[in-house]
Amino acid sequence: MLKFICDDNLGKLAKWLRTLGYDTLFELTIEDGEMVSLALKEDRIILSRDTKLSRFKIKDKYLLIQSEKPLEQLKQVIDHFKLKIDKDNLFSRCMVCNQPLQEIKKEKIKDRLHPYVYQTQENFVYCSVCDRIYWAGTHVEKMAKKLSERGIV
Ligand SMILES: [Zn+2]
Repeated sequence: MLKFICDDNLGKLAKWLRTLGYDTLFELTIEDGEMVSLALKEDRIILSRDTKLSRFKIKDKYLLIQSEKPLEQLKQVIDHFKLKIDKDNLFSRCMVCNQPLQEIKKEKIKDRLHPYVYQTQENFVYCSVCDRIYWAGTHVEKMAKKLSERGIV
């Protein structure tokens, strides 16, 4: 799978790419030169709305993002790199810190869940970095719907 790094204007795009399972870095306070060397070192593609990055001669490692709208940006990335979206990878990565999520038994986190959620949901995953717990609730459904409306999954 391709790996990405988003510049500081593209936080929402980074979250969407993580939602699709793509390893995507996003740092608010990174300088252009630092971002480029990180991208080269870790074999990442830079996504940016900033044309001045082209001065770095990183042609195939860089995509200039056209739209201001996150889902249109996502569509551009998918179309440009001809990404095949695997449904098994959806929601496999923490949206906030990019960490792959791990399954967790709900009994272990009972005291952290709303009783209704505990009773109605079976599958939970958590992020070992930020300790967030995720499950297939309405939020996930809404995101999946947005993706399918645009023909992404
Ligand atoms: Zn996390």
